[in-house]
Amino acid sequence: MILGFFLPWIAFFAILVLHVVLPARWVDGYVRDDRDDRDEPLRYRLNGLAVLVAAVGIAVVLVAVHAAPADELWRHRWAELVGACVFGLLFTAVLVLPAPSTGKPLLADLYLGRRENPRWRGGMVDAKMWLYLAGAVLLELNVLSFAAHQDLAIGHLSAAVVLSAALLTYFVVDYLTFEHVHLYTYDLFAERVGFKLGWGCLVFYPYFYCVGLWARAGKPDPHAPTWLLILAGVVFAAGWMLARGANMQKFIFKRDPSARAFGLLAPRAISDGERTLLCGGFWGAARHINYLGEILMAVGITLALGVPGDPLPWLYPLYYVGLLVSRQIDDDRRCAAKYGVLWDEYRARVRWRIIPRIY
Ligand code: NDP
Repeated sequence: MILGFFLPWIAFFAILVLHVVLPARWVDGYVRDDRDDRDEPLRYRLNGLAVLVAAVGIAVVLVAVHAAPADELWRHRWAELVGACVFGLLFTAVLVLPAPSTGKPLLADLYLGRRENPRWRGGMVDAKMWLYLAGAVLLELNVLSFAAHQDLAIGHLSAAVVLSAALLTYFVVDYLTFEHVHLYTYDLFAERVGFKLGWGCLVFYPYFYCVGLWARAGKPDPHAPTWLLILAGVVFAAGWMLARGANMQKFIFKRDPSARAFGLLAPRAISDGERTLLCGGFWGAARHINYLGEILMAVGITLALGVPGDPLPWLYPLYYVGLLVSRQIDDDRRCAAKYGVLWDEYRARVRWRIIPRIY
């Protein structure tokens, strides 16, 4: 119980150490550094993939030398969840309370945060990027340990658990491969660091995103039909193409508005003479087709478990629908305020919010 409680604390500390000691690249972000009237991009130190490989490597060695069973994280999962919750709450309090108030009630400050871009040692550790890294790496360790539990419990790995774990692994590796692209996302430029981001990354991300495996890894092999597994893979791949394609197209456009995305898509854009918005390619199909992609990936991961009648794994895609629909509404409001009539023109040209011809 005590060990389980502190396992996520140990993992977060180890991830921090790996992040600091492993080689990294420095990358210009999208957020402007306006301290002392600098007005230059904030620089980020990124090495997510190396940290993931090192963390998984350490876990494999621990299992190989019999220091821990392969399903250690599965065994303690409830105590770990409590430990991660407490860590997430402490993290929020330590980051928010000493900072100057935003003028909002204390609870709102605690939830949304006060500081926009807390960072230490000249950007060596950026709070937001470390939070995402910690969440992603612990999620992956959970995925591997939960899958290992099935192998130890029933003597083999079902095709369903293998596929679902593989797709979740792909999701994590993809995020860490494109960490630099995520410097251009909403959380980075529009949110502060409080409970929502801190607790979300430290607790919700590593423990809820694998809710399907949590629900199924202790159950017998569902002997999922091949067609269902193929369907799951196709839905996931379609979602990945939409999410990654749209994010990359915007990333390329923001860095060089005249560049062709993927060497193919000419940048179709509208402008008010000062600012520009993409209205072609992925961004011409719907204003947030990347959100549709993200939801489809979650549906693929859920279908891969081979038990579409079990409601628990569906909590994951359902959560995405709630998160991303409300985020689209927030982002639309933000963009309307920022871009004014140009946003109205974009909305008139691209009518669909998330799903072309439906929503
Ligand atoms: P977007 O990547 O869609 O970013 C929205 C911002 O992009 C807007 O605020 C605006 O910023 C700019 N923008 C919007 N439309 C255009 C346009 N037509 N042309 C140029 N710029 C435009 O949203 P998010 O940052 O929310 O999401 C990024 C990715 O992260 C998505 O794939 C999303 O699904 C994913 N995500 C994943 C989550 C997860 O848990 N797995 C959670 C949340 C998001 P500006 O003012 O700078 O122009």
